[in-house]
Amino acid sequence: HKIVVAIDGHSSCGKSTIAKAVAARFGYIFIDSGAMYRAVTLFALRKQLISEGLVKVQELIDLLPTIQIDFRYNAEKQKSDTFLNGENVEDEIRQLPVSQNVSPVAAIAEVRAAMVRLQQEMGKDKGIVMDGRDIGTVVFPDAELKLFVTASAEIRAQRRFDELTAKGETVSYEEILQNVQERDHIDSTREASPLRKADDALVLDNSYLTREEQLDWVIEKVKE
Ligand code: C5P
Repeated sequence: HKIVVAIDGHSSCGKSTIAKAVAARFGYIFIDSGAMYRAVTLFALRKQLISEGLVKVQELIDLLPTIQIDFRYNAEKQKSDTFLNGENVEDEIRQLPVSQNVSPVAAIAEVRAAMVRLQQEMGKDKGIVMDGRDIGTVVFPDAELKLFVTASAEIRAQRRFDELTAKGETVSYEEILQNVQERDHIDSTREASPLRKADDALVLDNSYLTREEQLDWVIEKVKE
């Protein structure tokens, strides 16, 4: 029988890599909940609702009903792209301006309520793997398998640095490390559903595990 797999953890710890691989292995749908908060952030940046890290909260809340987010499968890349009001924003939401502003946007209770509703709707049929910060605690508290993934901030920053430079972007390791640490801090200390391990989540510290080792471990857990 098909289950819901909830994968939470810190920024850039490889949650989505694991989630995608598990989904592919079992023919499940993978949903990247962080992409949704990133899309809202891109929307806010474009509407000039964020300056110097400060969000015009009420204006953003008022515009929430005009934000439409969906995922569309890209056969060429064999993965889903994120769409914001019909536009493919998959690349833009991964860039540093969005990463640097997403945590304050994701801390807004009304933004979270709207995203959680959308996520629950997308995941109402079993056979999904969703990754994020509050999937096992808030979005799917009844998920059959919950994982909490983590790794040291330095290792996570190095991975994100490698990923972005491989795409040809000019970024500094220091800047990324700072961003990872800032997001950890905001995500764990915010009032609205802070990042925390669900009581029944299994911890996966992947600092020193290869991708294959992690995947084997998770696949065994899904089979159980
Ligand atoms: O997973 P990713 O790093 O792309 O998420 C971007 C940001 O979105 C996180 O730093 C966090 O602030 C927010 N987020 C969240 N809840 C989720 C997923 C992401 O608050 N379920």
